[in-house]
Amino acid sequence: MTLPDLHALRAFDAAHHIHPFSDNKALAEKGTRLLTRGEGVYVWDQDGNKLLDAFAGLWCVNIGYGRPELGEAAKAQMDRLAYYNSFFGCTTEPTVKLAAKLAELAPGDINHAFFTNSGSEANDTVLRMVRHFWAVQGKPEKDVFIGRHNGYHGSTVAGASLGGMGAMHKQGGLPIPGVHHIRAPYWFGEGEDLSPEAFGLQRARELESKILELGANRVAAFIAEPIQGAAGVFIPPATYWPEINRICKQYDVLLVADEVICGFGRTGEWFGSQYLGIDADIMPVAKGLTSGYIPLGAVLFNDRVANVLREQGGELAHGFTYSGHPVCTAVALENLRILEEEHIVERCRIETGPYLAERWMALSEHPLVGEARIAGMVGAIELVPDKPSRRFFDDRGRVGGVCRDIALRHGLILRATWDAMLLSPPLVISKSEIDELIDKAWRALDDTQRALGR
Ligand SMILES: *Cc1c(COP(=O)(O)O)cnc(C)c1O
Repeated sequence: MTLPDLHALRAFDAAHHIHPFSDNKALAEKGTRLLTRGEGVYVWDQDGNKLLDAFAGLWCVNIGYGRPELGEAAKAQMDRLAYYNSFFGCTTEPTVKLAAKLAELAPGDINHAFFTNSGSEANDTVLRMVRHFWAVQGKPEKDVFIGRHNGYHGSTVAGASLGGMGAMHKQGGLPIPGVHHIRAPYWFGEGEDLSPEAFGLQRARELESKILELGANRVAAFIAEPIQGAAGVFIPPATYWPEINRICKQYDVLLVADEVICGFGRTGEWFGSQYLGIDADIMPVAKGLTSGYIPLGAVLFNDRVANVLREQGGELAHGFTYSGHPVCTAVALENLRILEEEHIVERCRIETGPYLAERWMALSEHPLVGEARIAGMVGAIELVPDKPSRRFFDDRGRVGGVCRDIALRHGLILRATWDAMLLSPPLVISKSEIDELIDKAWRALDDTQRALGR
């Protein structure tokens, strides 16, 4: 890109484009980065810098960039039938095939799909359908959701309410009534002197206390990410999910596992629920469903929920113009075909995932790193002022930002949440690319250490 073009684009961006989750004044002054091309695990920016994208866009480009098959699938479907809706008793071939494919891939009797355009819309759908599920069974008072502090379930009204992000709740009068939050199983930050196992149990039992406080007859569902992503990749202690399973069954509370990040191979299993042993009734999915090539989300339901909606639900008064958009579902099918036929999930589980884990965990030897954690291909390192204590920096978030910017100068994209550096590369990353990722991360940590004057 020639420089005048770049300057013009930056000026237009500053003048006309409001960015999500950004301080738009500061951004307009600084100027945005323009990404121009992607291939495999790499993207290129406006200046021709080649960047190893260890965050897969936004946790989503599971098959890597630049696969022409997805564009070809989109074109073939657009040429044949660009659009038709799923209202009025209609449907299209790729949408039906995708629903059947998801039923095959999803665990247990999760056999039914409702299509949306995003993860946020999937969670808005969850809220409405779950309340409807209980209401039609004569339990309209069973309408309360329990989520988790710092959970992320999207940015629509219900999504942001079910999520537990304080900054989001401050804007727009959220959360909506009928949503409560419990604390997360974040052992590194909040476990204090407890063992991870004891802490995991304690945090799971906060769900039980909350249900008893609100009344089990009023609690409709518990929603949580298998591994809490945006909060900082909180991988729960092994005791956590089995106890949550027990509590949800005991009090007949539906269990919603938000698989938007964990779904489609991120943990080396097809779903995070399989990796962690979660008995979910409902699974919202998006992101890896299309590897981010086109927007698509879905809510996956088990037989119990689907049968009630079908047999007792009457007309479902919910849907989107683009529910089951045939171009999007055709792209998703092609993405799933590639993930499956090229054994990408399997390779992540048995070969590249363990290799990445071994090398990533070794970063915990760096003087700046208080903990390294990873599950499949999603992980984090926590930067700390005085190892081995698990204390945070006083000006929490600054050092993470410094490290992220330095990593970028070394050609490595990592995300910083507070002072945790988050990892979520395309699942197709090779061993030599993993070596490059780790070398760059070490150098970024060394330079961050130096920038702190240590
Ligand atoms: C990204 C995300 C969402 C929201 O998905 P969008 O497609 O951005 O609306 C919901 N849940 C989780 C766990 C996510 O990471």
